[in-house]
Amino acid sequence: MEDKQGNRNYREVTKADWRRFAWILLIFVLVITASSFLLLPGYWSLWFFIIFVITFLLIAWHTKNFAYQCPKCDEIFEISIITNFLGPNNFDRKYLKCPLCGKRGWAKVLKIVH
Ligand SMILES: [Zn+2]
Repeated sequence: MEDKQGNRNYREVTKADWRRFAWILLIFVLVITASSFLLLPGYWSLWFFIIFVITFLLIAWHTKNFAYQCPKCDEIFEISIITNFLGPNNFDRKYLKCPLCGKRGWAKVLKIVH
């Protein structure tokens, strides 16, 4: 699959992608849990900083690796880290406004092939 400019490739999200994502999420949760035990309540500002950084890294990784397909016009588009952070998720879909047709809908997640 290519976008309208043909400069990027996309494909359906596979089970292997989900598995990798699940592992990353698990490590993310473990790091948060471990740092909570080690740093709270004495070093809450350091704890807050660590949570902030790893949350940012997780979302940055997700933003760089996944694109979305408009349910109305099939346009494939990528989103910003902030949009990724704020937009509501529903398993393999995300509620987004399409940059081409301007309609809001549950856009399907696609993997970006680098
Ligand atoms: Zn659209």
